[in-house]
Amino acid sequence: MERARKHILIVYTGGTIGMIKDPITGLLSNVDFNLIADHVPEIRRLNIDIDSVSISQPTDSALMTIDHWNEIAQTIFENYTRYDGFVVLHGTDTMAYTASALSFMLKGLRKPVVFTGSQLPIGIIRTDGKENLITSLEIAAADNSGEALIKEVTVYFDYKLYRGNRSTKDSASEFEAFKSPNFLELASAGVEITFYPERFIPESTGDLEVQFINSEEVALIRMFPGMNWSHYDSVFQYPKTKAIVLETFGAGNALLTELGRNYIADFISKGGVVLNITQCSSGSVDQTKYKSAEELMNLGVVGGGDMTTEAAVTKLLYLLSKEDNRDAIVRLLSENLKGEITN
Ligand code: ASP
Repeated sequence: MERARKHILIVYTGGTIGMIKDPITGLLSNVDFNLIADHVPEIRRLNIDIDSVSISQPTDSALMTIDHWNEIAQTIFENYTRYDGFVVLHGTDTMAYTASALSFMLKGLRKPVVFTGSQLPIGIIRTDGKENLITSLEIAAADNSGEALIKEVTVYFDYKLYRGNRSTKDSASEFEAFKSPNFLELASAGVEITFYPERFIPESTGDLEVQFINSEEVALIRMFPGMNWSHYDSVFQYPKTKAIVLETFGAGNALLTELGRNYIADFISKGGVVLNITQCSSGSVDQTKYKSAEELMNLGVVGGGDMTTEAAVTKLLYLLSKEDNRDAIVRLLSENLKGEITN
């Protein structure tokens, strides 16, 4: 018996994939999604019914805000029952942040959400956008006995499908722009698309619900040798800072001076949350390994395990939007909510 054709919605948010060069300034700016479709007529030959919708103001993803994340989530929510899957066209610069945010925001997701984009605009002959778009559509339409095969938020780029909240932009110039340093890919596209179901997150239950993000009270500090903590005085003192992500060295080790200790202790005593993640591109924080990391732990800093910066920041924004209780936030930070952390 022939399988029913899948119905996929492309959500266009901007990015290089849909940009053209202004003939006068030479700068790239976003165009209408229809122009993308004209450049990839192949998608009409796929055995998939495709519709598209655009967010209200498609943008270079460097300019993405929490409002854009909420609009993308709302678009998926409103169209959820009508489509079998979603392909989100997005700029590469902050794709991993949006994909991480959406992975937390979409509770009860049981359909594929595949983020993709390109390093070269779709109108350029050597564009990587065509392959990325075509294979993303095929992945979003992949079937498992009449159900969706992928039921989570993912990033597809350069022949690999990654978990969204494990992905990170790794190259500004290679076609292989993304990596998933601490978790293996969910699928790889060769002659065939090979899926690895043993790596998928456990299936969600219940209806789809969206937890919109209504907090922007997170700050990020990346350490460097010789840093002077007093530069961060305003970050720690700013009354609206509720959480600080510390990007530390190696397995979570910090340059702790008297001032740094005082800032952290004082911030935590006032109800702030500090999360320790590593600035290494792979590996995990272990706050029991070295003295400075242990000191952070004793000050009440939460170990972020092997979370990416993108997952750490968006998980905090999500938890601050959802929970008032500091203890609950601290507990959930170290729990594996959507496959973002190994524990
Ligand atoms: N600046 C672009 C963006 O992120 C880069 C890209 O799409 O590759 O929107």
